[in-house]
Amino acid sequence: MPAIPSNKPYRVGRSRTGLGLFATKPIKKGTKIIRYFGPLLDSRNKKHDAIENKYLFELNGRWTIDGSVRKNVARYINHACKPNAESDVNVRKRKVVIRAIKKIEPGDEINYDYGTDYFKAYLKPIGCKCAACEKKRKKKRAEAWAERLRLKAKAEKKALKEAEKQAKKEKKAQAKLQARLKASRSVNEKEKLNGSSNGLARANGKSLNGHGGKSPAHKMMAAEAGILAKASVKQVSEGHASA
Ligand SMILES: [Zn+2]
Repeated sequence: MPAIPSNKPYRVGRSRTGLGLFATKPIKKGTKIIRYFGPLLDSRNKKHDAIENKYLFELNGRWTIDGSVRKNVARYINHACKPNAESDVNVRKRKVVIRAIKKIEPGDEINYDYGTDYFKAYLKPIGCKCAACEKKRKKKRAEAWAERLRLKAKAEKKALKEAEKQAKKEKKAQAKLQARLKASRSVNEKEKLNGSSNGLARANGKSLNGHGGKSPAHKMMAAEAGILAKASVKQVSEGHASA
């Protein structure tokens, strides 16, 4: 890490994305914190135009500061979507200073907004890790979690209601069955008391005493016997007459 004079209000330290610049003293709003510096690159120079790194600070269409040099401590300042500092660009002087836009307390990480182009090219694809974006993500996660819990509670409530409904239904069916059983028992008891042979009782009586209903075969035999009896009476009377 670079050696920083103790009179400076910042130090390089660990941040959530690697290294960052942190305040060591209170910094008043509007104060110049540090200069962002490095070799000036001219876009009309083919060699300059071929240089590519994460620390290029474009001043205008022609001039760019190459901030990748070690001495440029400002290159440790991370981007934030809701920063506490800003880059103050003086195009005419081709100078950039980082200035506090609010009061910064010792221990606070110093950051500024890198701008839309940088954000789109480098941060959006990997997801911005700044405090504001992390907070937003955390909030979203908490909301998603709460929503999951809500849905789960809803499902459990529904299942409970369904179970209660089912239990009620079964209880009702049980009561109905019990009532039917009771009714049929009282009918059976009545039958036993008055001796009428209905249903099972009649069937049993028939098979036991053999005096049940008459079958067609019985009826025929009875009819033939009647005819024979009549015939014999006739014979007897005729014989009597001829005698
Ligand atoms: Zn962000």
